[in-house]
Order: sequence, then C-alpha cells, then structure tokens
Amino acid sequence: MKIGLDIDNVLAHTFRDLAGYFNKHMGLPGETDPNEVVRIMREDKLKMVSYWFTTWRKRLLTQAAPVEGAVETLLEWQPLHQLVLITSRLPLFNRQTKEWLNKHGFPYHELHHARELTKFKKARGCELFVEDNLAEAEILADHCRTVLLVDQPWNRRPTAKKNIVRVKDWAEIRAYRPDGSASKR
Ligand SMILES: [Mg+2]
Repeated sequence: MKIGLDIDNVLAHTFRDLAGYFNKHMGLPGETDPNEVVRIMREDKLKMVSYWFTTWRKRLLTQAAPVEGAVETLLEWQPLHQLVLITSRLPLFNRQTKEWLNKHGFPYHELHHARELTKFKKARGCELFVEDNLAEAEILADHCRTVLLVDQPWNRRPTAKKNIVRVKDWAEIRAYRPDGSASKR
C-alpha cells in the first residue's frame, strides 16, 4: 500500500532538538510551552521568515536526531509499500532534508513539500498516513483510510474523526495492522 509520512516530529526530533534554539531566536524563555511554540510557528509568518532563513543558513534541521524506531520501520516497510514523505518544510529545505534522510539511512520513494493543511493533495492514494499535526490529520482523514497521530503535547485535543488513531511511538506504528487498531502494549 501507499503510506504517507510527515517528517518533523514523526521521523525527526525537530521540536525536541530545535526548541532551545527557537526560543532563543524568538527571545522566549527556555521553558516555553510547546503549544505556544507551535502556535508561533504556524501563525507568526513574519517572525518565522528570519527564523527559517537562519535555520537554513546554519543547517539546523540537519542536526535533529531521527525518532527512535523510525528508520528500522521504514526499512522493513520499503520492499512492501510505497513510502511517500510529505513535509510542510519550505522547498528551501529540500536539499538539506534529502541529505538528512540519506545520512540516517531513511528509505523512501517520494518526497514532497506541501503547504500546511494541503498535504492531502500529495497524499492521494495513501491508505495510511503518519502525522503529528492534528489539524492536518483531520483533513488527511478524509482522504486516507487511517491516520496515525503521533501523540505530542500540541495535539492533545479530542477529534471527531473516527479513523484517526493516536499512537505513542514507532513501536505502536510498526505494530499497526490496517484491519484493526494499533496494538496496545
Ligand atoms: Mg510534523
């Protein structure tokens, strides 16, 4: 089957590894609530321009660690499934993103950049999608049979979408079977 995958905070520990830098750049306290960080990233487009430029220049996204179990799972899925990476990173980051994926041995068949909340356009035919942005997941849920939502502090609100399944880590994603729900351990 065709599987869609988000990159930031699904394959890469972007928030965990870059939050300190983000807070410093924005003049925020070190312990700023993740929800506030995500809100600024999504809403304060103007402030984000200089942030993204500096991030690109300093190649910060290439420094995030891969999420535990992600590479192993994709290697297992690669011969069986079509792996489509869809990120809302700016196209500016395309080269650094590919470098990072290659450096860590992530297999994939396609890599697309899509503006936030428009990933569904690139996700046609994906039966499964792995995402951490709930608003994005809710749209994807209208186009994909199942959306696995990786649990994060910024996505903990209830959703009416029955085909969004909350998972805590890659062990649960890997154990997911399309005919049932993610295995509970
Ligand atoms: Mg993400």
